[in-house]
Amino acid sequence: MKKLNLETAEILAGKMRSELLRVSATEPLNMKTVLRQLNVMTLYRPLSDKLFGLSLLTPDKKHRFMLVNSNSRRGRQHFTIAHELYHLYYDENPQPHFCDNSIYTDAVERSANLFASALLMPKEGLLKNIPSNEIVGKSVSIDTLLRMEHLYGASHHTLVVRLKELRIISPVSADELLAISITQEAALRGYDVELYSKGNEGLVIGDFGSKARKLFDEERISEGHYLELLNLIGYGEGQNHTTYLTTIDFLYYAMKRGKMSAEECEQFVKDVVAKGSKLPTVDFEHYLPNNQV
Ligand SMILES: [Zn+2]
Repeated sequence: MKKLNLETAEILAGKMRSELLRVSATEPLNMKTVLRQLNVMTLYRPLSDKLFGLSLLTPDKKHRFMLVNSNSRRGRQHFTIAHELYHLYYDENPQPHFCDNSIYTDAVERSANLFASALLMPKEGLLKNIPSNEIVGKSVSIDTLLRMEHLYGASHHTLVVRLKELRIISPVSADELLAISITQEAALRGYDVELYSKGNEGLVIGDFGSKARKLFDEERISEGHYLELLNLIGYGEGQNHTTYLTTIDFLYYAMKRGKMSAEECEQFVKDVVAKGSKLPTVDFEHYLPNNQV
């Protein structure tokens, strides 16, 4: 698919709403409900600040997996989920990758963001909620902004950017709105400020473990990505000893399949241990795997 523009993003998001989600063009989406409805296995885990999420799709396109940074603010999490849905449903060549702040340079990431904005904050819905005088003045009041943020579960930043991109507000107005302390303004007006805080750590939607394994079995993801995933979801760093062996087993097979040399596997383990993880050091030349993969 070619790079999206505002118009095509709007159409695509409208199609997802009507054909897959069976909701109207303007109604607010509950993203957890959407994930359940679409049967996307989702895990919320704390990731570093720069990362928002990750998604994976099996080659038969039957199984979808998503990882969401629980350290992001909840409003931002909703946006991440919508962004990943673009990769899962419309990205022609989805590559397992962490979605981060590279959006301004990467055309696919930019398309995913345009889609996410249109899906979460539909233009018609926004216009309905903005008084005529504010439309004419190309600026919205904090009250209007807060009402829309809470209606659509959107982060302050993504909503202001959306309004600017739709040219509903001027760039100057957008800058002014971005500069305010939205949590404080929300609290002053009696809004629940949960939308602006992190959360959902450890939450799992769907049957996760077997899905990640299936992705690996089908070689959709590399051993490196699989190990990364295992670590992220806690399988690679838990208290259970067999989990470590499983991780090592994957390294062993990565080596056997010629994807990593014995030296690379050993170096990998050393690096992991150096970073504070508890993987045992293994002599790969003499290692017998614990699990067949
Ligand atoms: Zn992305």
